[in-house]
Amino acid sequence: MQTRGEAHVAEVLATLAAAGFTGTRFWSGAYDRTLPGNPTPAAMNHPYALSSAFKRPLPDALAERLRARFGDRFSTALAVREHHGRDESPFPVTPPDAVVFAESTEDVVEAVLACREHTFPIIPFGVGSSLEGHLLAVQGGLTIDVSRMNRVLEIAGEDLLCTVQAGVTRKQLNAEIKDTGLFFPVDPGADASLGGMAATRASGTTTVRYGTMRENVLALTVVTAEGKVIRTGTRARKSSAGYDLTRLFVGSEGTLGIVTEVTLRLYPVPEAMTAAVCHFPTLADAVAAVIETIQLGVPVARCDFVDDVMIRAINAHSKTTLPEAPTVFFEFHGSTASAREQAETVQEVSRSHGGRDFEWADRPEDRTRLWNARHNAYFAALQIRPGCRAVTTDTCVPISRLAESIEGARAILDRAPCPTAIVGHVGDGNFHAILLIDPENPAEIELAEALNDEIVRLALAMGGTCTGEHGIGLHKIGYLVEEAGDDAVDLMRRIKRALDPDGIMNPGKIFRA
Ligand SMILES: Cc1cc2nc3c(=O)[nH]c(=O)nc-3n(C[C@H](O)[C@H](O)[C@H](O)COP(=O)(O)OP(=O)(O)OC[C@H]3O[C@@H](n4cnc5c(N)ncnc54)[C@H](O)[C@@H]3O)c2cc1C
Repeated sequence: MQTRGEAHVAEVLATLAAAGFTGTRFWSGAYDRTLPGNPTPAAMNHPYALSSAFKRPLPDALAERLRARFGDRFSTALAVREHHGRDESPFPVTPPDAVVFAESTEDVVEAVLACREHTFPIIPFGVGSSLEGHLLAVQGGLTIDVSRMNRVLEIAGEDLLCTVQAGVTRKQLNAEIKDTGLFFPVDPGADASLGGMAATRASGTTTVRYGTMRENVLALTVVTAEGKVIRTGTRARKSSAGYDLTRLFVGSEGTLGIVTEVTLRLYPVPEAMTAAVCHFPTLADAVAAVIETIQLGVPVARCDFVDDVMIRAINAHSKTTLPEAPTVFFEFHGSTASAREQAETVQEVSRSHGGRDFEWADRPEDRTRLWNARHNAYFAALQIRPGCRAVTTDTCVPISRLAESIEGARAILDRAPCPTAIVGHVGDGNFHAILLIDPENPAEIELAEALNDEIVRLALAMGGTCTGEHGIGLHKIGYLVEEAGDDAVDLMRRIKRALDPDGIMNPGKIFRA
């Protein structure tokens, strides 16, 4: 017997077939260039392409139930819906039908049970900083915004862990634990929510040393698609108890359940932290220095590359005067002696690759100034072309292939019809090619997506991944199939059906159905 979710998919398939969409590979998430109009990957992944076919209208009875339960924390106001129907991707705003502002796990349970009764989509929302169309309501739905669930519940200093509500942001957490001598290292640049970071398996500038959310989430409280509250993991550092549900939910992009609490690893603030910035004659020299640093086993805490175009944008945006050259930002953590030793080794390696003007920053305010400039790179880039949006690649390759991958990307970008830049956490083999497109120019979007496609394929051919940290969302659905294969994606889809039989949790993300 069909579940309600399967019945909905069958209905949509019939609608699509009537409209002439007959490709079957599409349903496994891969591009089907045989579809009418020979659509490109970009067009196939466009949220408007099929949203009218998928859309499930908000039932009056559901709206009434949510309004009665949540009062003014339930909203159908257009401005509120539009705020929740966009992210930092270039996709156009695709608003949900309504938004609930949850303040507790019980609120989330109530909202999920109500939506479940009406087989109505649910989209969890942290702070909306994701980049791949994760939050767009392609099938309509109720957005459950957890940003008001923003309490740090426990700091267990002796166990080097804390438990927070899902809406706590990483900067808020670090501000609240400042006096404990501990810190939480995962840093995706944006001040994202810890629930959202768990949901996207985020990482960032410090991952080369401290790992991603996968390594740093110990346990979760999750409201399942059936409205049950489960606890995954424990406070123990390790466990062999059954399937690892924590890691199943970490990176699930809101498609399996809603995270309401997160238990995280904390680290002692190092005795010494030194930042450094070094400029190189060419991109190849900078990348070679990074590869050698990693291969020598220097435990750098941060190691990010920024190209000359981006440095120019940063100087204009952050009022810095960095030389406009390929640049690597480093940070070293440890005892005073070991941080200094690491820095000296890296300086020597950099010099041997033509690196110059190795600038040190020991004082916290100087370090912050340097890294703030790096963190603002994305917004600085957007100012290169007023009104533009960014198509951003997120490939990650084994470190031995980094030079080929990044130089290949540069050559591909040289054919772009728009300004481009490269920036990335190169110590992990992860970098972002940024194409600054005019969102009103379909031809330009098409070409940018075609170049994006080439860069991704290059990384896949090198044993890499289409996404090191941003996730699949809408934008990379097709690449997931190419990377993991039909059978593996089919297994993922079966896991999704087992946990979310009605297909209500962020439907249309990671895979189509
Ligand atoms: C300038 C800039 C730089 C960035 N740099 C990086 C980077 O270096 N590394 C990196 O990893 N990312 C980066 N990102 C992307 C983004 O910050 C991350 O994806 C972040 O983890 C998203 O968190 P959020 O709170 O904004 O989640 P949202 O954008 O609100 O949601 C993201 C996804 O998670 C789901 N979700 C959110 N909260 C929950 C929850 N409580 N339970 C279940 N599902 C949930 C949503 O449904 C959605 O699918 C960057 C973004 C920007 C704008």
